[in-house]
Amino acid sequence: MKDIRTLSLEELIAYFEKHGEKSFRAKQVYDWIWSKNLHTFEEMTNLSKKMRTQLASDFTILPVSAHVVQHSKDGTIKNGVKLHDGLMVESVLIPTETRTTACVSSQVGCSLNCEFCATAKLKRMRNLEVAEIVDQVALIDRQSKEFFDRPLSNIVFMGMGEPMMNYPNVVETIKKITQPEGLGMSPRRITVSTSGIPKMIKMLADEELKVKLALSLHSAVEKSRNEIMPFSTKFPLTDIMEALQYWYRKTKSEITFEYCVWKGINDDEAHIKALIKYCRQVPSKVNLIQYNPIGEGKFDHRSEEAEQRYIQALEQAGITVLVRRSRGGDIDAACGQLANKNG
Ligand code: SAH
Repeated sequence: MKDIRTLSLEELIAYFEKHGEKSFRAKQVYDWIWSKNLHTFEEMTNLSKKMRTQLASDFTILPVSAHVVQHSKDGTIKNGVKLHDGLMVESVLIPTETRTTACVSSQVGCSLNCEFCATAKLKRMRNLEVAEIVDQVALIDRQSKEFFDRPLSNIVFMGMGEPMMNYPNVVETIKKITQPEGLGMSPRRITVSTSGIPKMIKMLADEELKVKLALSLHSAVEKSRNEIMPFSTKFPLTDIMEALQYWYRKTKSEITFEYCVWKGINDDEAHIKALIKYCRQVPSKVNLIQYNPIGEGKFDHRSEEAEQRYIQALEQAGITVLVRRSRGGDIDAACGQLANKNG
């Protein structure tokens, strides 16, 4: 049976008109699904019993469920989310003093092969549907209200998968999350993180969604970036930069470069210089991410000493640098640790 959440509002209106109902009924259903995140027709109490039965005989609502919920000492909550076909993804709630961020997945597994990332070790099984991403957001919004007494404030596409490789569904999800008839969130509180596919960065800029963009850089030295992120041989750093400049011209929104520092990999002066030179070509800031070991040897040693040198050099060059503290490490909820261990 067809999932009602694959229908657009226009298609829902056509369905209701076909059944001799007013079009505002379609809007009510749309609101139940996308704004209130209801998963049964039974609960749509402003519809007649007859209409609810009719809907239930024509459509289904494929649910996702929080299969495993783990709480970290630091407040981070990791959800193992089970999809209707039994596959699993992970979504993380990250609380700070003032905000709650949802880190959501866009694919089951990932097709890219970043050497340092746990998700890369899983096969990419499939893209997530719009409703499956929206459900992760709605789930974390409910948890934020339950455990922290406030609604979700930010969303980052930094869970499993490469959002640009599930482009149409990610864009539609953002529309559903931001539209007033959906969750009504501000797009400026949404960050799409990509490993850098130039053509898709430009396409996203053209959508004019007003979301933020983060680029997983890790090295501005071509040869070493290709070793760290092997798929990137197809996407030279100059092409990525050209796409980022296009992004900035279109959106006026500065780029965040995500960057981990590893001993013996990118901890030398040449890498620091290359990063500064790269950043200067587009309005941007650097987010130094504390690496979370995944037990792969080569990348298991972050260099705090080199991180300090990076910070100093970037600041001297007038480039904003933030250090992102690792969260949820005790439950494998941190960046790059999402690998369905409990699946
Ligand atoms: N595919 C997208 C989004 C998922 S990764 C991307 O590449 O941006 C989200 C961020 O976590 C990326 O910056 C990624 O490089 C980083 N990351 C991956 N594994 C990590 C790990 N083990 N420790 C810290 N950060 C990691």
